[in-house]
Amino acid sequence: MQNTLKYDVVIVGAGNAALCSALAAKDQGAEVLIIEKSPQPHQGGNCPYTGGGFRFVHNGLNDLLTLMPSVDNKYNNLNMQPYTANEFKNHMIEVTRGDTDKDLMNTIVSESRPTINWMTNKGVIWELPSSRISSSINAPSIIPNSVGLSAYESGPGLIKMLTKSAKQNGITILYETEMTDLVQNKQKEISSIVCKDSNGTYQVNTRAVVLACGGFEANSDMRKKYLGEGWENAKVRGSKFNTGDGHRLAIKLGAQPTGQWSGCHATPIDINAPATGNQGITERMPRRSYPLGITVNINSERFIDEGEGFAEQTFVKMGSRILSQDKSIAFQIFDSKSFNLLEPRYNNSKPAISGNLNDLAKKLDIPESKFIKTITKFNKAASDGNYSPKKLDGISTNNLTIPKSNWGIKIDTPPFYGYCVTGGITYTYGGPKIDTKARVLDQNNDPITGLYAAGEIVGGILFHNSLRGAGLMHGSVFGKIAGTNAAIL
Ligand SMILES: Cc1cc2nc3c(=O)[nH]c(=O)nc-3n(C[C@H](O)[C@H](O)[C@H](O)COP(=O)(O)OP(=O)(O)OC[C@H]3O[C@@H](n4cnc5c(N)ncnc54)[C@H](O)[C@@H]3O)c2cc1C
Repeated sequence: MQNTLKYDVVIVGAGNAALCSALAAKDQGAEVLIIEKSPQPHQGGNCPYTGGGFRFVHNGLNDLLTLMPSVDNKYNNLNMQPYTANEFKNHMIEVTRGDTDKDLMNTIVSESRPTINWMTNKGVIWELPSSRISSSINAPSIIPNSVGLSAYESGPGLIKMLTKSAKQNGITILYETEMTDLVQNKQKEISSIVCKDSNGTYQVNTRAVVLACGGFEANSDMRKKYLGEGWENAKVRGSKFNTGDGHRLAIKLGAQPTGQWSGCHATPIDINAPATGNQGITERMPRRSYPLGITVNINSERFIDEGEGFAEQTFVKMGSRILSQDKSIAFQIFDSKSFNLLEPRYNNSKPAISGNLNDLAKKLDIPESKFIKTITKFNKAASDGNYSPKKLDGISTNNLTIPKSNWGIKIDTPPFYGYCVTGGITYTYGGPKIDTKARVLDQNNDPITGLYAAGEIVGGILFHNSLRGAGLMHGSVFGKIAGTNAAIL
């Protein structure tokens, strides 16, 4: 193994957090190297799979317009309220059920807007999140204020703009180059990083490494170990390159694992979704209209309250419960009353369809008599009538061991439809602990000298569910902080 290269700071990964780290380190005059495991077209891990939305503190629409390159009168009809620091904190606390690390949260919130300004100066072009505008552009409208802006051309655009900026700033990016080890000197300071590419393994001398290499969602062994039995079968919604390498190497050096290692963000997803993310295909695969029907496992049994809340509130739980069923699959069953209400993404599936339930069970290859028993029992406990899918209608089943708490309507109007689904993992929550300077901490809460982390790898920020636009925002905030501190170490 040769020591041929030397850099002040080495960044692992070339996603949003990594590129922000690299640019911030360069601002301090450091010589910066980025190593990226994937080939260039797959650069950016999970970022290209996002809509590129950022959640940050702002002062309403007029304030946001100052961050956008050209403002025209198409926004005249729109209004957006300010998004305050208190709102941001309350949303973080609510979604994480109070588990989020409060010091990290306070830093994310207070640094969110300055970081957006800094990214703008680094060449990121912003737009108002388009899905909201298209429906409101022709009518006076107040649009939601939490995710203020999206990167131009979404997640892929974000990576393109940040990469361009990194290259213009003289930052070297080595693709198809993987971190395989971290080396410390006798004083327990980071002294080099071991890299592997198609020519073999070599060492890069450095005094600081920023781990920005994502979660462990694409590593089936780690999923089984930390998330539990069944998770090895999950479809991966994002990058196949996020295999927890940073988690393992940081822990090997004594980093303190923190956060919700047993939890992750997940969703019910079509059984035919690709094993790992494929842009243009995977985003059409989530199956979240289950509140309009029932879901049974391979033994024809219901196993969860499908109507506990809106899908937005329950799909993470649903995705993970499906994975814990036999063979990690389930079937979403609908009748013709609900069929036309299914989200358009269902058009990409080929459901089993039949005019009678016995035949549907045969087509789905699940026990027929048990299926009839399950539906009969459900229908006895359910109500006649139609769905009110836009509100929690409180129409609950009566006396079922596993109730359906809303939309508890009989499944009785043929034709009947069955969709085979499994669980798709979006990203993981657990990871090494950092402090507000993005330094990786050991078991005694002391920094491991020269080791920093930012982005999805960091534990202790998100728990239980997702908060739209917070993943990218905390990656940028701590990416910038990590790069700055790594450079001035
Ligand atoms: C379908 C989907 C939708 C999402 N929607 C949203 C959303 O709406 N809003 C939001 O805020 N977040 C969302 N997220 C989460 C968001 O993608 C992440 O928070 C964000 O991308 C994490 O950025 P990162 O820079 O930490 O890691 P990533 O962007 O995942 O980048 C990690 C990089 O590290 C590289 N790498 C991994 N291991 C190594 C190694 N050993 N050596 C070198 N390089 C390595 C990878 O190839 C990759 O390029 C979504 C995720 C998915 C999958």
